[in-house]
Amino acid sequence: MHAIYVFADCLCVCVCVVALRRLGVKGVEIRKPEQLESVASLIIPGGESTTMAKLAEYHNLFPALREFVKMGKPVWGTCAGLIFLANKATGQKIGGQELVGGLDCTVHRNFFGSQIQSFEAELAVPELASTEGGPEVFRGVFIRAPAILDVGPEVEVLADYPVPSNKVLDSNSTVEAQEENPVSENKVIVAVRQKNLLATAFHPELTADTRWHSYFLKMSTETGEGASSSIVAVGAD
Ligand code: GLN
Repeated sequence: MHAIYVFADCLCVCVCVVALRRLGVKGVEIRKPEQLESVASLIIPGGESTTMAKLAEYHNLFPALREFVKMGKPVWGTCAGLIFLANKATGQKIGGQELVGGLDCTVHRNFFGSQIQSFEAELAVPELASTEGGPEVFRGVFIRAPAILDVGPEVEVLADYPVPSNKVLDSNSTVEAQEENPVSENKVIVAVRQKNLLATAFHPELTADTRWHSYFLKMSTETGEGASSSIVAVGAD
């Protein structure tokens, strides 16, 4: 049996646990650094990254999370979780927030706008179709969603999405970074993998399609971490 550990207090955690349960995996919430020692892999869910950072700081979780990533254990960040994993975040207030880092990319924190600009869209994900079967298309749920503007050489792009035609980059956005976007200057990246790290700008747990969860479980098995236990999500008291 697998376990999930969580350190975030949001609906995303609950639905993530449910998605894993559908695949026969038990999820457990992580709130304290010492809990990470007994966990083989981790899901950092969506929510609000500033609040999550404050909670992680309060619980002194950042050093343990960074160590977890460095050890090569599988970590999946969705939405705010992706922001947590990025080496660099733009589109934030001055001063920014602490990040776990490890994922060689620049993320724009609110690239697709505010809550009312949330949307659903069909994404082409060839990797998902080839490893998990089913269609190449995955329906992404984007809520106040971030986007990845550029990636380093070790990062594999799994899905991209067209930049909305009315998109005006704000002063914090790195236009240069967007021009370096390896996919196309008219597209941003919304799903990536870098060795043990998986990141999605959207919320797979909010759909009935469990293929991203299944993909992550396989990553955990590949790295030898998933055989007897554990997956994680992040939250707070
Ligand atoms: N853009 C949000 C943030 O900055 C993340 C939104 C989400 O996780 N749905 O935290």
